[in-house]
Amino acid sequence: AALAATTLTVGTLGACSAERAATEEEGGDETLVGIAMPTRSLERWNNDGTHLDSLLKDAGYATSLQYADDKVEQQITQIQNMVNDGADILVIASIDGTALAPVLQEAADKDITIIAYDRLINETENVDYYATFDNELVGTLQGEYIVDQLGLEDGEEGPFTLEPFAGSPDDNNAKFFFKGAWDVLSPYIEDGVLEVPSGKAPETVDDWTEVGIQGWKTAGAQSEMETRLNSFYSGGDKVDVVLSPNDSLALGIEQALEGAGYEPGKDWPLITGQDADEANTKNMLADKQSMTVWKDTRTLGEQVATMVDQIVKGEEVEVNDTESYDNGVKVVPSYLLQPQVVTKDDVEEVLVGSGFYDAADLGL
Ligand code: BGC
Repeated sequence: AALAATTLTVGTLGACSAERAATEEEGGDETLVGIAMPTRSLERWNNDGTHLDSLLKDAGYATSLQYADDKVEQQITQIQNMVNDGADILVIASIDGTALAPVLQEAADKDITIIAYDRLINETENVDYYATFDNELVGTLQGEYIVDQLGLEDGEEGPFTLEPFAGSPDDNNAKFFFKGAWDVLSPYIEDGVLEVPSGKAPETVDDWTEVGIQGWKTAGAQSEMETRLNSFYSGGDKVDVVLSPNDSLALGIEQALEGAGYEPGKDWPLITGQDADEANTKNMLADKQSMTVWKDTRTLGEQVATMVDQIVKGEEVEVNDTESYDNGVKVVPSYLLQPQVVTKDDVEEVLVGSGFYDAADLGL
């Protein structure tokens, strides 16, 4: 998913909403933006939701912010209510990217503009824009980090033991994360430099759900890692590397490693992550996680707030990728932001320096 070199602009799909917004303004009504977030149980979605909500309110929009407790039906009901309440624009971070087509048809019938937030919405023509981080690049960065740390490009022959994990099978992003990493790592598996003692190594990228953890659950990742450690590493063999697609899984994997007696600074494996969640950032400082791919979700909120503004004003909506995200019905015009690797050494400069965390939050 390479970023297009130039910024493209497409269409003015929001014109209908914009006209309606203008009419409503004459009648004294504000433009209403419905924001559907997947769950409060993960730090990032809380931050995403409140940040976008406040940006939109500051810009003069009325908002309705809802969290769906990772339950698909609940999210559909929430979106249905937003449609009924006269929303002009919907911003949706979906739980199951394939389950929203019927309710989005109703939204489209009412000329509501739909923005997919962070996760693509599939199998419907009724998604107008997509704003996200370059998801495949997230995985590429994780894979390259592993290759780099093990010195594989410098001819290190290993073999090193690797345990791969993937995200939730119903999340469209999860396959992009896995693909990015697997394209980098699988040649080394084929060469025997990386070995997967559990055998949980998808033969092709398309088989990624074999190592997926439903709902991105920390507990699910912990129990899967415990099973693998008990079943395949009992004879004193050690795991050298764990490919974890994000921080919620990494946390469970780290708990399993701790339970199995692994010690930071001694035999603790390389382990990847994503999001720079607070607990994981602390674990990086304690040498229990090697890296995280940080997505400054504030910039995603800002981009989406800009999109909303452009839609309402009937301006061209800025996107920078019109190739990568085919939802099964159409290629959705997208704005991709850049993720970045953060390790222990960058925490202070990058995460604290940018104001993402206060030093005190991290015990610094
Ligand atoms: C997001 C990740 C997040 C994961 C679990 C993905 O769709 O892009 O940032 O870690 O969902 O919530």
